Amino acid sequence: MKTFHCDNCARQVFFENKRCENCGWLLGYQPELQVVSSFTPEDDEPVADGDDAGALRWRSINPVNQGRSFRQCSNFSQQDVCNWMIDAGDDNAFCASCRLTTVIPSLAVDQNRILWRRLEVAKRRLLHTLWTLHLQPVPKPEDSQAGLAFEFLEDVPHGPRVLTGHAEGVITINIAEADPAYREKMREQMAEPYRTLLGHFRHESGHYYFDRLIAGTGRIDAFRQLFGDETVNYAESLQRHYDNGAAPDWNRQFVSVYAGSHPWEDWAETWAHYLHMFDTLETAYSCGVQLRPKNRSEQKLTIGASPVDAASFEELISEWFALTYVLNSLNRSIGMPDSYPFTLSTPVLEKLKFVHGIVMQCAHGEGG
Ligand SMILES: [Zn+2]
Ligand SMILES: [Zn+2]
Ligand SMILES: [Zn+2]
Repeated sequence: MKTFHCDNCARQVFFENKRCENCGWLLGYQPELQVVSSFTPEDDEPVADGDDAGALRWRSINPVNQGRSFRQCSNFSQQDVCNWMIDAGDDNAFCASCRLTTVIPSLAVDQNRILWRRLEVAKRRLLHTLWTLHLQPVPKPEDSQAGLAFEFLEDVPHGPRVLTGHAEGVITINIAEADPAYREKMREQMAEPYRTLLGHFRHESGHYYFDRLIAGTGRIDAFRQLFGDETVNYAESLQRHYDNGAAPDWNRQFVSVYAGSHPWEDWAETWAHYLHMFDTLETAYSCGVQLRPKNRSEQKLTIGASPVDAASFEELISEWFALTYVLNSLNRSIGMPDSYPFTLSTPVLEKLKFVHGIVMQCAHGEGG
C-alpha cells in the first residue's frame, strides 16, 4: 500500500480514513488516481466535521485534479461502509469497489453492518493491489462471462452452511469470517498459523485469476510442471485431504497445509501469499523502511523501488526475508504472535516466482 496525506493539512492518513483527524476535512479515495484526497463541499467554504454531511458534490483539492467535481459512493454517504469517490460525470450510485458486491448481509441485524464494513475494507485493499497490477476486475453485471462478483452471505438456522469459495466469477464469503472470535476458532480448528479476512479475499481472487490468466492459455503447461495436474478430481482430493490430513513434510512443497489439497488450492494459496508480500513490500517502500543492523553479518535493507518496479523476483525475495525477520521481532516485542509465521522452501519460491512473472506481464501491459 502507498502512503497517503491530507491535501489540506499534509497530515499522514490511512487508506481507510474518511475524515482527516487533524483538520476535519472530508477524505475519499479516488480509485483512478489510487490516492486518498481531501474534498471541499461544492459552492461552499470548508466546514468542520459533521456540518457538511448533506453536501452532494465535492471538489477535489488534490493537486492532480484540483477543482474536479465528485460524489461520494452511496455506501459512503448513506451506509458508512465505503470511502470511495465517484466522478460527478459518472451515473453510477456505487463506486468501482461496491459495484462488485452483488449480495450484502441483511441489515436488519445490527451486527451485520459492522461485519459488512470489515468485509468491504478488506475487499478494497485487495482491489488497490489488483489495480496497481493492472488487474482491475469488471463487475459481473457488466460482463457475465469474465466479470467478478462478491456475495456476502450469512449462515441461517436450518439452512445450508455458507461456504467461502469461488465459482465462475462469484466469490462467496461467509460473513462470520469478519468476526475475529469466529475466525480465531476456525484458525485453531484448521491448525492454521494465520487466518485473516484480507487473506480470504486474496485467496479467492486467486481462483478467479486462475480462470483469467492460466486456464486455457499457453501458461497451463508451465503451471502443471510446478503445481501438478489440476484436472484430478477436486472433490475427491479435498475429501482425501480432510480425511488423511497433510503429509508431515508438506512444507517442503507447499506454502500452507491447505495448498496440498489440490493444485487449484496450491495456486490460490501461492497467489494469496504473493499479494501478501507485494502489499507489505509496497508499504515498506512507501514508508521508507530501511534496515541498518549494528551486526555487520545481518542483512541490510534498502528497498530501491516499489515492488511493481522490482528489478527481479530474487530482489523482492531478498528484501522480503530481511523485512519479515524484523516484522516478527517487532511483534514479539509487543507481545503479539509472529506477523509472518511462514517458511518458504525452494519449490514454494519457484511457484511464487511463476506468479510474479505473470503479474508483472499484466502490470507492464504484456498480456493478461
Ligand atoms: Zn487534514
Ligand atoms: Zn463504494
Ligand atoms: Zn480455494
